[in-house]
Amino acid sequence: MNPGNKPDNEILETDIVVIGGGGSGLSAAVAAAQKGARVTLLERRRSLGGNSKRALGIFAAESPLQRRLRIDTSRDVCFQLAMAYSHNKINPRIFRAFVNKSGDTVRWLQEQGLKFFDVPSFFPGQLVRTWHCPKGGGAAFINILIKSGKALGVQLITQARAKRLLLDEKGNVAGILATRKGEPLQIKAKSVVIATGGYAGNKKLIAKYYPLDTSNMFRIGLPHTGDGLQIVTGIGADTEGLGTLQMTGPGFPGSLPLSYLAKDPNAIWINKKGERFIDERAGLKQFEGVNAMLRQPDQTCFTVFDFGVRQFLIENGLTAGRGLTYREQRVSATAWVDDFQKEVGKGTVKTTDSWDEMADWMGVDSAVLKATIEDYNMGCDTGYDPIYGKSRSNLKPLRTPPYYALRCYPGLLTTIGGIKINEYWQVIGKNDRPIPGLYAGGNDTGGWVSDTYDINLAGVTFGYAINSGRIAGENAAKFVLEGKP
Ligand SMILES: Cc1cc2nc3c(=O)[nH]c(=O)nc-3n(C[C@H](O)[C@H](O)[C@H](O)COP(=O)(O)OP(=O)(O)OC[C@H]3O[C@@H](n4cnc5c(N)ncnc54)[C@H](O)[C@@H]3O)c2cc1C
Repeated sequence: MNPGNKPDNEILETDIVVIGGGGSGLSAAVAAAQKGARVTLLERRRSLGGNSKRALGIFAAESPLQRRLRIDTSRDVCFQLAMAYSHNKINPRIFRAFVNKSGDTVRWLQEQGLKFFDVPSFFPGQLVRTWHCPKGGGAAFINILIKSGKALGVQLITQARAKRLLLDEKGNVAGILATRKGEPLQIKAKSVVIATGGYAGNKKLIAKYYPLDTSNMFRIGLPHTGDGLQIVTGIGADTEGLGTLQMTGPGFPGSLPLSYLAKDPNAIWINKKGERFIDERAGLKQFEGVNAMLRQPDQTCFTVFDFGVRQFLIENGLTAGRGLTYREQRVSATAWVDDFQKEVGKGTVKTTDSWDEMADWMGVDSAVLKATIEDYNMGCDTGYDPIYGKSRSNLKPLRTPPYYALRCYPGLLTTIGGIKINEYWQVIGKNDRPIPGLYAGGNDTGGWVSDTYDINLAGVTFGYAINSGRIAGENAAKFVLEGKP
């Protein structure tokens, strides 16, 4: 016994332990409790929600909301788009099970009280509309799931970090070892659902699994440490899809408005050689745009524009930063003007009347930069961008000083993947068989996304987190209550 007369090792007992209180873990807990299982959820942080609290909307196909709004987005089309986007590198059964569940999950959330208000496009000309957004964004999802969980008797324990799985003598899941506020906590259970949100804050794991240098990347999402991955691989689970990062770019650390300015297609992006390297409209699909940036020296670039473009953007608004993200975060349309001004003097942005001085600040060869600008301006005059083919509507010559530039970096939202699962969200062992009683969901799991977050199916990561958690929870309850895997 310790001096406070508390047992050295607090022991609880339940049917299912869920590790992680983000969208995936909470969905698992609610779904399992709805089936009649006793559920305890552990959350490492002080409050529930994880990155899910900061997302805006979920992917779904053939939902009641899409039907009401007459949005024709079929499950089959979404499935085929995902397979094509990944070049068949994902597990079709997992993606099919997710897509098929997604429409009903919108109903499930509505039934709990979540009020969706729209299914907006994420970028102009989006083929399918899948991004289901409620007022209040991710926090609204989390609040509803917490309310449901409490009503169903789910035990929610915060500041409790799962450390290790307990196995019985046959190797079956028997519970979890954790610490709560630094004190040991043991929970006996027949089933465990892992949903710890990935490893974006674990530099060692990123260096091990991600092939490129990440020293210039800045983190936007929470610093999750890959606990789920390490816990299950510690008992022989297999892995799939390690090294996929959900990134955005070009990004500007510390300012959402400047991050959108950095991606505006009316500006140009210049690398450290002083050259353009892509049609800047790639910024409208920022999760793909970042891939072009990652191929450049030091994975950085400069977003460059002139006084004329600045005036155009003040009068017309930023191309990307005018939608839901802005509205939800209550950012004014011209907030970037003030934010830019605040950065002057910090060395992060530059204003000058001279391309030579600009080149000097960027550390690029002045002759190369001036040749790049001249070529670009010629393309603007003829309405044809000979290498990158940027749309005429965004070809605006850069001839009117002052000239402006921002130093941009890739932003890391989350990691995706790692734990190998099947279409029942059972964790797969190195012997290629499910580990009885062990399930995983959300960003901890792999096999459903390839190397790039597919924004064509907007909301797909948050949608996957909610749906995979829900299915994992239902199956864990079946396992515990009916003995079925
Ligand atoms: C700013 C931002 C905006 C985004 N917007 C969108 C969007 O609009 N649409 C979209 O599809 N995706 C979006 N994403 C991605 C999306 O948020 C994630 O894919 C999704 O939330 C992942 O859910 P999760 O439950 O797997 O992880 P999380 O929600 O991060 O939850 C994991 C939880 O596990 C806890 N945990 C970790 N280790 C332990 C441990 N050992 N013991 C106990 N608890 C532990 C963590 O503290 C955390 O609370 C966004 C991400 C960010 C950062």
